[in-house]
Amino acid sequence: MKVTQSEIVISAVQPRQYPADALPEIALAGRSNVGKSSLINRMIHRKNLARTSSKPGKTQTINFYRINNVLMFADMPGYGFAKVSKAIRAEWGRMAETYFTKRETLKGIIQVIDLRHPPSKDDIAIYQWFKEHGLEVLIAATKADKVKRGQWPKHLKQVKEGLGIVPTDRMVLFSSQTGQGKDELWSEIGRLTQP
Ligand code: GDP
Repeated sequence: MKVTQSEIVISAVQPRQYPADALPEIALAGRSNVGKSSLINRMIHRKNLARTSSKPGKTQTINFYRINNVLMFADMPGYGFAKVSKAIRAEWGRMAETYFTKRETLKGIIQVIDLRHPPSKDDIAIYQWFKEHGLEVLIAATKADKVKRGQWPKHLKQVKEGLGIVPTDRMVLFSSQTGQGKDELWSEIGRLTQP
């Protein structure tokens, strides 16, 4: 998709704040600092619409971006801060559960994973939770520029096996630095959102 227009619609805390437009929606989830904001910015050619380096402990919101008036991205708060309190973890869980189980326009999830490392406990638990709830997940294995090309297959396998990816879920190698994987990710989004 050629993105000509993108805007933030709202930073929502409560479901009643979710945008009412009936556009097909793709949610983005990932551990904090994994590179989720950078991926969104790269996908929509904006330097800084999705803020980079969000800090732990601040109010957690779901940020909705409207793209070309045909699609919505719902950017979930990053999960898995090592140092956050139980209360914040619980708040993340409540917010995510409400969103993922109730959002009628949701067509699929892009779960952003760091290609360099084995998936974290949180990555695995959240992926498995998505599967238990019958949600379609697309794995974006990002920071590919930080792994030597010859090592990509080994690292992709590590992510695939670590998460226990089901055969129907696709995986895309991505780099926000180089733009690698952008076209493939757009075409996968097209597949998820087609009527
Ligand atoms: P978020 O917390 O998941 O939104 O992560 P950010 O997008 O803020 O990225 C965290 C850090 O990783 C920043 O310093 C980014 O510049 C860096 N980063 C993100 N994506 C990539 C990538 O694909 N390649 C490289 N080399 N660095 C990246």
